[in-house]
Amino acid sequence: MKVMKFGGTSVGSVNSILSVKRIVESAGEPVIVVVSALGGITDKLINTSKMAAAGDSAYEGEFREIVYRHVEMIKEVIPAGAGQVALQRQIGELLNELKDIFQGIYLIRDLSPKTSDTIVSYGERLSSIIVAELIDEAKWFDSRTFIKTEKKHNKHTIDADLTNQLVKEAFHSIPKVSLVPGFISSDKVSGDVTNLGRGGSDYTAAIIAAALDASSLEIWTDVDGFMTADPRVISTAYTISELSYVEATELCNFGAKVVYPPTIYPVCHKNIPIIIKNTFNPDGVGTVIKQETSNPQSKAIKGISSINDTSLITVQGLGMVGVIGVNYRIFKALAKNGISVFLVSQASSENSTSIGVRNADADLACEVLNEEFAKEIEMGEISPILAERNLATVAIVGENMKHTPGIAGKLFGTLGRNGINVIACAQGASETNISFVVDSKSLRKSLNVIHDSFFLSEYQVLHPPLTGNRFQFAIVLVSRRCSD
Ligand code: ASP
Ligand code: MG
Repeated sequence: MKVMKFGGTSVGSVNSILSVKRIVESAGEPVIVVVSALGGITDKLINTSKMAAAGDSAYEGEFREIVYRHVEMIKEVIPAGAGQVALQRQIGELLNELKDIFQGIYLIRDLSPKTSDTIVSYGERLSSIIVAELIDEAKWFDSRTFIKTEKKHNKHTIDADLTNQLVKEAFHSIPKVSLVPGFISSDKVSGDVTNLGRGGSDYTAAIIAAALDASSLEIWTDVDGFMTADPRVISTAYTISELSYVEATELCNFGAKVVYPPTIYPVCHKNIPIIIKNTFNPDGVGTVIKQETSNPQSKAIKGISSINDTSLITVQGLGMVGVIGVNYRIFKALAKNGISVFLVSQASSENSTSIGVRNADADLACEVLNEEFAKEIEMGEISPILAERNLATVAIVGENMKHTPGIAGKLFGTLGRNGINVIACAQGASETNISFVVDSKSLRKSLNVIHDSFFLSEYQVLHPPLTGNRFQFAIVLVSRRCSD
């Protein structure tokens, strides 16, 4: 048995949803299919509820578009007849409920988190019953009855033990095709509808795959898999055929939006491979994520990811040297205020600690740190804390970096030769990731030169120039680099 998850774009258009039907029906083993809402619907549900809460009557027009998308989809993909009529009726009932909820919000001008969670759940509830009708012999399951959350730190978090047990019970016998709405869940105490966070359908699929010891978890999306770099920036980026769980986690936690980061852990734990596939190019190889990748000698790094939204905050001062507890106080103050830190760098002199945060968190981070160290700042032991904004963080990722000398040398040498200044850098002892911060204006160039430096020869093997003339090919790349 395998689990297949189809994202919003895969179920978002007539052609793609018909392709989903073909892909599922040709599987040679029982499958559990997890689907997202039709592409763009979750955003639209959120937007419509915000408009209604703000008293903007134009929310009705937005709502009508939501109705239209679903009704038209059914007309196009479900053959006319009793099945289509029954499905239109079922969808109509759900949409009527939704209409009443929007009207209630509009009348009382209030949108609580609970109401918002209820509204977004309709996206997956609607899409999943359409796909269940579309696919031969598919049986629909309600994920709210077995994906259970509890409230922790004001967030809905999965109750793994309870969910595992309930998933096993729900699927004690597995039909040929099971159809499950992704993303949605319910609170284990109140039963209120909750969800696993934006992009959470991947996570639903992973939880089910792990609980049932599936042979594999397939994530069907609109790209061929993980790429060596962002293809919108690097035209020569190509699909990575294999990644380890660690590498995939590093890449998707940081910039690469191919899978929702929490997805990897449950299946990694059970050693179930994740296969990323493209619904729009089902014959493509995709990316396989597993424990051990074959040919470990192949490449030092597997991919480059980046975040163009970085502020660097540096706590520095001679008064910090050798003082115990400075870092403890920095992280405590940030954590108490809900600020996430994604990069830390401290030199061994202990004279400064730099931390990378999102631009939106920079003001608050400075404020709480200036407050925490007010006494030391007044005494001149620590300098007033300021943020350097509009920076970008780049990470190179690969498990083969471990114990391989020269990777950092090659990286920083390449940046230096191209006149790119590194503002801060960090490498953990796990040696699977080297991250560095540059001015955002240098991001494009940094990605280009690093990608060329680590992947160009590989790219040439995979995509030999049409003319067969390597020299000409090199000139094209060099000129692109100069014009960047
Ligand atoms: N529909 C939800 C979202 O757009 C969940 C998902 O697609 O995975 O975030
Ligand atoms: Mg997604």
